[in-house]
Amino acid sequence: MKALIADDDQISQRILKTALSKWGYEVTAVQDGAEAWEALQRADSPQLAILDWMMPKLDGIQLCQEIRKRTAQPYTYLLLLTSKTSKSDIVKGLTAGADDYLTKPIDLDELRARIQAGQRILNLQTELIAAREAFQNQATHDSLTGLWNRAAILTALERELARARRKQTSFAVILADLDHFKDTNDTYGHIAGDLVLAEAAKRMRSVLRPYDTIGRYGGEEFLIVLPGCDELGAMHTAERLRTCLDQTPLEITDGHTIPISISLGVALGVADDRGTATQFIKSADAALYRAKGRGRNCVEMAQPEDRESWVVRS
Ligand code: GH3
Ligand code: MG
Ligand code: MG
Repeated sequence: MKALIADDDQISQRILKTALSKWGYEVTAVQDGAEAWEALQRADSPQLAILDWMMPKLDGIQLCQEIRKRTAQPYTYLLLLTSKTSKSDIVKGLTAGADDYLTKPIDLDELRARIQAGQRILNLQTELIAAREAFQNQATHDSLTGLWNRAAILTALERELARARRKQTSFAVILADLDHFKDTNDTYGHIAGDLVLAEAAKRMRSVLRPYDTIGRYGGEEFLIVLPGCDELGAMHTAERLRTCLDQTPLEITDGHTIPISISLGVALGVADDRGTATQFIKSADAALYRAKGRGRNCVEMAQPEDRESWVVRS
């Protein structure tokens, strides 16, 4: 854990530094408020800061106020050091944004106890951030495949449409659907079917570029967004997605394998395209439907008229 000590008094700074280092902190010590402010702006800055009230450039109170104006950074626990003991001064320090205060001369036992109290708050914050991240991850990812879920991939598509329009670039949308997947479930069971879905997702993710996006659009359907992609590039990628599944069956137990194949529909968005997300999905879906009709395990390119078509599945 990192800690910042800002104190212009050399002796008190040394006492604090020795104590905190002994308690396991990685200490940065500075002489004035401006240096402290700079140290707290850096990436991965200390989350615990011990600030002297009276310091050159920016005093402890001004520093507390500046730190509390920030909203993006994780919380910094601020312990204000002061030789002022009046109630009104303490109120002023806490109002400026300090979490706690300690009066000089420093009593090391008291300092340690107060730092431990601050540490408990910082630990709670770390847990809260981890819980929030886990929750965000759950809300945007499909739990079976680990890919983006339907809402998240649709958001990615909308984002790409806006970006492509702004930057005048082309892009592609692919809708891919596992072939005869109902038969896979019927023949090998639902759990094996789940394994096939997870494996298919893993393989497809691995053949895409880092800035391509793939999500689980529905049961055994995947939506893939390829930024900055022309027709040839899109067809190559679709072909790579197809072969990465088709070339090796999934081995479930020794000697038992399940063949996997997928059909894909590709819709292209050119630079000045005004199509909507729904139109691109409709186009890719119509092309996918033709790929199924052609015998599956193949790629079809969408045609202009596909944009307004409604696929009626038999
Ligand atoms: P086609 O080649 O025409 O796409 O045929 P299909 O059998 O793949 O298509 P169909 O729409 O008839 O069946 C899709 C199946 O996918 C039915 C459904 O039970 C299965 N499925 C959807 N989601 C899951 C899942 O999460 N796990 C498993 N095991 N099966 C799923
Ligand atoms: Mg299917
Ligand atoms: Mg389907």
